[in-house]
This record gives sequence, structure tokens and C-alpha cells, in this order.
Amino acid sequence: MFTLQALIFERMKMYNFNSGPAVLPAEVLQQASEAVINFNDLGLSILEIGHRTDWFVKVVEEGRSLIKELMQLDDSYEVLYLHGGATTQFMQVPMNLLDTNETAAYCDNGIWGSKAIKEAQLFGNVHVACSSKDRNHTYIPRELSVPQHSKYLHYTTNNTVEGTQWQFIPEANVPLVADMSSDIFSREFPFSKFSLIYAGAQKNAGAAGVTILIVKKDMLGKIQRKIPPIMDYTKHIEANSLLNTPPVFAVYVSMLTLRWVKKEGGLAEMERRTNERADLFYNTLDSLNAFIGKTDKRDRSLMNATFTTQNPELETLFLDECKQNGMVGVKGHRSVGGLRVSMYNALPLSSVKVLCDLMKDFDRRHG
Ligand code: PMP
Repeated sequence: MFTLQALIFERMKMYNFNSGPAVLPAEVLQQASEAVINFNDLGLSILEIGHRTDWFVKVVEEGRSLIKELMQLDDSYEVLYLHGGATTQFMQVPMNLLDTNETAAYCDNGIWGSKAIKEAQLFGNVHVACSSKDRNHTYIPRELSVPQHSKYLHYTTNNTVEGTQWQFIPEANVPLVADMSSDIFSREFPFSKFSLIYAGAQKNAGAAGVTILIVKKDMLGKIQRKIPPIMDYTKHIEANSLLNTPPVFAVYVSMLTLRWVKKEGGLAEMERRTNERADLFYNTLDSLNAFIGKTDKRDRSLMNATFTTQNPELETLFLDECKQNGMVGVKGHRSVGGLRVSMYNALPLSSVKVLCDLMKDFDRRHG
């Protein structure tokens, strides 16, 4: 097994810009790997203990309380660990909150939001409050239409694929529901303005396999539909997130990751680092001729930066050079192409520096 120092040294050779699953803190990897061999000095692996043991229940309790503490949420909220990725929430949210004859408003700002709209239409009426489809979702609209009778307004705070992020909270006199999969825990945020938040853990909050769901209790129990228990938030709440076998290891890694976030200085410190990384990257991008940003400057994502090369033929060349220099995850999402770098909480500033140096050098040769 690597010591922490050796692990950090090994990892200095790679620069991980993957969009998710994504870079994790070295110490989280080390703690998680130790727990696979010997969890809490029990002589058992985390993979071998029952999910209803006191040992694991403590993990769930610590993880849920860290989430609430970091987000500064009071007891009117419940935190759940669920299966099936954020994608399952595209259906589970309307299934739990929206009756067949009711309307929910949705913002159509990227591929994930569009998928959420399609799924919600299976359960009730969807009113599209705003759309950025006209320009391939490269900006965030300022005008929203939200019918007063909407059950909720759903939006994706950060569009992982297109590289845009809401830098403001949409005005609506209805409960807010947000997919925060790719920017949760990256900044200080008025989370208590939201009635429901969900996020796959595999970007800023741990490993793939678990979805974090935060819901205000007064949103629940208001619909007529019969819901299978495994899909019913109230059943998960009653069972303390142990309705069935949870993804034990993913829950554990998520808890370790949030312990790390807290130890490093909480969301204020994450926000400082987020801004530092994004400022460095975008300032470099804007100073070069060889590359162009894909999105409107004011709506740029501080997590996922999307860009292209001025000359399309240079893209493959640049990707090759990234690969040769140990930089992974720089290729854009398959649906939009181009280039994308993801700069989540655990990405060291030094990785961004190395990338920016390569971009500058590439610009000198090809700009
Ligand atoms: N929403 C957003 C904003 C995402 O970035 C992703 C995945 N990248 C999803 C939803 C889908 O998540 P999952 O693959 O965990 O279902």
C-alpha cells in the first residue's frame, strides 16, 4: 500500500481534468483504500460489513450531518443517500412531487436539463420556463416565465457538458428544485432557498454509485399517485436511508470526501480555490489566439470550461500533446465535441498551471 506521501508523489505525474468520475483528494483515496483492507481497525473490510451494523450506521449519520452542516441546513430538511445516479432523479423528483394534473416549470439549459424535462412529462405537465437551445446552450437566459401555479421550478445549476453555470438564483415565487451534480460543495451558496437538491457524488462529493438528495419535508406527501416504496422519498426517510442495501463503499467515500472539505476550510475555502482555478484558466484562455471559449463570458462555468481551437485541425494535435504530458479528460463531451476541462474541488491549482503553460506554449507554436 502507498503511504500518503508516496501516493501524492505518484499522482503529481497525472493531471486529471475528468468530468466525473473525477479527481479525488489523495488522502481520501488513501483512507478509502485502507478501509477496503481493514475498516476502523476491525479486521474487516468496509466491503464486508453489513449495512445495518452500528459501524456503517455511524458512517451514514456522519455523512448526512456533514452535508447539512456544510450547506447550513436546519432540521426542516432531510438528507438521503439514493441509488441510480442523478438520472434516476429526473423521474423520481416528478414522481414524488408532481401530480398528473399539475404543472412544474423547468429550465432547458443543457442536455441534463432537457433529459429532466422529458422524464417529468411522463408524470405531469411541464412548462418550459426558459431555453437556451437557440444557441446550443452556450448561455444562461435572463428572462423566465414561471406560471404561478407551478408546483416547483427545476434547473441545473451547472451545465457540465456545455460549460455554463447559473451565477444567480432564478426569481420565482414557487419552490426551487435543483440538479447540483456538478457544482455542489464548490462554493458558499444559499442552499436553504431550495426545496429539493440532488447531486450524483462523483464530481465534488466522492465516488460514483450514490446520489445525495436533500429535501424539505414540507414538499412531501402532497400527491395522490401511488409510488413503489423504493422510489418514495418518504419511505427512504422513515428508513434513515437504509430502505434497502445502500452503495456502502460509495457512501463511505462520499463521507470521507466531505470530511476533507470541512477539514480544508469548508465551502468558503472551496469557493476560494474554485475562483483561483477558474480565474487562472479563463485569463489564460482569453489571452491566447489558438483557443476560443464556447460560452458567454458572464455565464461561464467555474467547474467545467468548454473551448475549442481556433483552427479545428489543431484540436487533435492539442489533445495528443495533453496526453503526452499526462493530462487526461480534456476532450469535450461526445454530444458537443471540442475541448473541456473540469476543475472540481480536489483538482490542485498546480494542474491548472501545467495545462495553462501547455496552452501558452501551443499558442506560441500555432496561434
Ligand atoms: N446532471 C448533471 C448536471 C450531470 O453532470 C450528470 C452527469 N454528468 C447527470 C445529471 C447524470 O448523472 P448520472 O450519470 O449520475 O446519472
